[in-house]
Parts: sequence; C-alpha cells; structure tokens
Amino acid sequence: MSTPTLAEWQTAQAANPPVINHWIGGRTVEQPPARTQDVYDPATGTVSGRVARGGAEDVDLAVAAARAAFPAWRDLPLLARSQVFFAYRELVWRHREELARLITRDHGKTYPDALAEVERGIETVEFACGMPVHLAGMNTPNVSTRVDVLTLRQPLGVTAGISPFNFPVMVPMWIYPIAMACGNTFVWKPSSHTPGATQLQAELWKEAGLPDGVFNVVYGGREAVDAILTHPDVSAITFVGSTAVGRYVNETGTRHGKRVGAYTGAKNAMVVLPDADMDLAADSAIAGGYGSAGERCMAQTLVIAVGDAGDRLRPLMLERMARLKIGPGLEPGVDMGPIYSAEHRAGLIEWIDRGVDEGAELVADGRPFRHPQYPDGFYLGVTLFDHVRPEMTIYQEEIFGPVLGMVRADTFDEALALINSHKYGNGTAIFTTDGGAARRFQLEVDVPMIGVNVPIPVPAGYLSFGGTKQSSFATLQMRGEDGIRFFTRQKEVTIRWPEPGARGPLSLVFPSNR
Ligand code: NAD
Repeated sequence: MSTPTLAEWQTAQAANPPVINHWIGGRTVEQPPARTQDVYDPATGTVSGRVARGGAEDVDLAVAAARAAFPAWRDLPLLARSQVFFAYRELVWRHREELARLITRDHGKTYPDALAEVERGIETVEFACGMPVHLAGMNTPNVSTRVDVLTLRQPLGVTAGISPFNFPVMVPMWIYPIAMACGNTFVWKPSSHTPGATQLQAELWKEAGLPDGVFNVVYGGREAVDAILTHPDVSAITFVGSTAVGRYVNETGTRHGKRVGAYTGAKNAMVVLPDADMDLAADSAIAGGYGSAGERCMAQTLVIAVGDAGDRLRPLMLERMARLKIGPGLEPGVDMGPIYSAEHRAGLIEWIDRGVDEGAELVADGRPFRHPQYPDGFYLGVTLFDHVRPEMTIYQEEIFGPVLGMVRADTFDEALALINSHKYGNGTAIFTTDGGAARRFQLEVDVPMIGVNVPIPVPAGYLSFGGTKQSSFATLQMRGEDGIRFFTRQKEVTIRWPEPGARGPLSLVFPSNR
C-alpha cells in the first residue's frame, strides 16, 4: 500500500474526523459519546476528532485480556515471538510517514521532527527483535560438589506503561517492545492529547500477527491511571511524564506492590566555555531549546555561558532566532510548530510574565506572535531571557516551552556547581574544544545523559535512558539491559543430580560451598 500524498491524507482526515476508542483484546471497543473527549489540532486550534475517556472498568477489561493472553505468549518459542517483532518493525517502517503525520496533527511538532521521532523509536523495536539472545540465562557449574546454579529470566505477567503527550511514538516504543519481547503482556495508558499515532501502533501490532490481548490500550486520565496503579493483576509499570504525576505514580504503585520506574521532568543546562566553537554552540542552543517548541524532556532550556562566552553567543543566537519560521508542522520549511494545547500555551505566557517580574532580562519575547493564517492556532514565538539567576523560579522549574534562559557564570567550576545543585538531572551538555574540561565534566556532573558538543544527548534506542534527582523515581534506567531487568524476574535454580553412592550422611548444618 503506498502512502497517500499529504493533500489526500488531509482531505481524508477532514472528511472523516476519527473517533479513537480503547484497544482491548485485539479490537477497538466502542464508547458512547459521553465517554469521549475532543482532540485538537494545535496548528489550527480546531477539533480534529474524539478520543475515549476510560476508567476503572475499561482498565479491568484490558488487564483481564492481558492476563488471559499471558500464558500462551510467555510459552511461545522465543524465535516465534521474535518474528512478530520483525514483522512489526517492517510495518512501522513502512507506515513511518503516516505515523509522523498523525504525530504532527495531534502534537504540532514539525513533520521532519515527527519522522525522526518514529525512526528513533524503531531503534528500540529493533533491539527487541534480538531478545532471544538478550534473554539467555547463565549456568554456573560446580558452585559446590556436583551442584550447579542456573540463572533464569522470566516475564512478570501483565505490565503497563503510562506515557506523555510529547513523544506519542518514541517514548512508548522505549517501553512496550521490551516488556512484550520479554514475554509480558501489556496495557498502555497513553496521553489523550495525541491518540492518532497510538491507534495506528495498535493496528500495526495486529497486522504483525501479535496474538490478541498481548497489547492493549486504554485512554483516560487520573481514574484510569489509578486503576492501573492499584490493580492486583498488574506487576510492573513504567511511567514517563511530569515530576508531580511521576512521584504520585511511584508512591501509589509501589504501595500496591508493583515495580515502578517513573521518568519525569527536567531542566537541562548546556555549558558553553569561552573556547567553544560559538557557531556550533549557537546552533545547538537554538535546536536544543526551541526544537519541538521546547516540549522535550531533553530540551536544553538553560544556557550557562562561562566568562565572555555569553556576550559572544547572544548575538549569534538572536540572528538564528530571527530566521526561525513558525507555523503548522505539516507545512514544508517550518522550523517550529505550535504549542500542543491552548491551556499549556496560556501557562507558558504566565511563565514569561513571571520571568519579567523576577528581573531576568527579556531579550526576545515570544508572547505577541500570532500566525496570520491560523489566528486560532496555539502558536507562541521564541523567548530568550538573559541574566537568569538561580533564585528565580524560571531557573528552578521546568517550563516546557520555547523559553530559553541564559545564565552567566565566571568559571567552569561555578557552571558545574550550578548543574549539580539543581533539583533536576536528566540531560546536560558541554560545548568546548578543551578535552580536559570535557573529561572533568563527564566525570563530575551529577546528570547521567551527557553531550560533549552534542545538544540533545538522547542515547541510542538500544542503550539505557534515565535521569537522577527529581527527573527519575526509579532504581533502574529504562530500555537496554536495564529495561530487560525491569521487565523480568530473575530466578536462581540450585541443581544437584545425585550419583549412585555419592550421597553423604544426613546433616542439619547450613550447606557450605567450600
Ligand atoms: P503528564 O505528567 O501530564 O502526563 C503523563 C501521563 O500521566 C499521561 O498519560 C497523563 O494522562 C497522565 N496524567 C496526567 N495527570 C495525571 C494525574 N493527575 N494523575 C494520574 N495520571 C495523570 O505529562 P505530559 O504533560 O503529558 O508530558 C510532559 C512531561 O513529561 C514533562 O514534564 C516532560 O519532562 C516529561 N517527560 C519526561 C521524559 C523522561 O524520559 N524523563 C520523557 C518525555 C517527557
């Protein structure tokens, strides 16, 4: 099937605004209109469809379907399981443009950015294709006389993921492929703001041959989340979203006996040393701060400029900001799309007001921006504050929009101390041509995802991802080896095969291995 042109696709979407329902047991479950809510196209500010609003009973149905599917899925030969992942990988690749269009329609980010999101998500699906190798156990012969130990990794049962609006494909793909390739079944509670790409992912799993009930989707808010957190048949939950909700998910889920990994908010800072390539640093600050309208957990929203770096960087950044094209994400040549919701846009304007009140220097003000053709779209221009200081709330809190703050520091040590004393620790970066300074930064910074002359250091999809401090409520990172550990239970089997005549006398002494 060939991908429809953008015009054909837009006409089809407008003629038939989607109503997106829960996906349970391999099929959509229709909801009465009263149990649905509007979905908005942020580029135009108009309603683009509706999405189900689920509660405890929908979660019950999804968990029951996942529980029923678990034994057969767990027992499927590893290669048979893996074939489904290979098929899914091919389908996602074939439908990547459609997935990207759906992301852009619901979220607002530009189409090339959405396409890159899909391609980065596929990396983790590809990792999951190789799960038969990753799930290999370990045999330790001769731990004692004629005694061996076998280490096994087994799936947990029904697992769940709760995901944010800002990466409707990539972030869930960091979770469900690993959960399911390890032999678990899955219930996904996505964001209701961006359901189009969610629905397509469910349909592609079906087409890939995934048995019904292994992958389920329930839309909704707090009620659906609470039902997952307290459900006796859910074993493990990965949450990705804001810090306040992640903290609550972690506390509630663990209190109900579940494994929880919650990966949360951020306030990432890039340090620019005076010896940096300033053009690269300026490009990186703009890409890291305003890409996806700043709605990335790895956005670089603070620039800590050391010495005279700030005075040299600022005009280079302003030049680039003046050239940015803001508009509908599906329009070619657009650099930055709208904000994902009208409420969030209003909140961002309040943040800019607050920055002014706190005394930061407002160098560029995104508040007055209106798109001439789409006055009702949720657009905001790009904002730059300079001379932001640590006591300001615009320094301390995640703003999650195209609002960049420059902080001035006298020395490398001062810049490092600022990052290490911040309450968030997700990503960071240093821009320098001094290898020694970069090496010290890697070793001493209390943030686990670090870029050296790389602004958005999201590790490749087969490696682990996660933060420290209030950016994570989890003992492991997600994805990679840590993801497999999270979604499996390890067993140690101590084995003796008695040999005739080799049995010792009865002893009540604790067995020593020496
Ligand atoms: P959010 O916390 O509002 O929502 C995340 C999920 O929780 C959604 O599925 C949502 O429906 C649900 N939810 C929202 N409010 C809830 C409540 N009161 N009780 C229970 N569930 C609730 O986050 P968001 O606005 O969708 O996403 C943006 C946030 O996600 C930012 O803080 C961003 O930094 C963070 N994020 C973090 C990472 C990471 O890996 N650390 C990645 C992407 C996004």
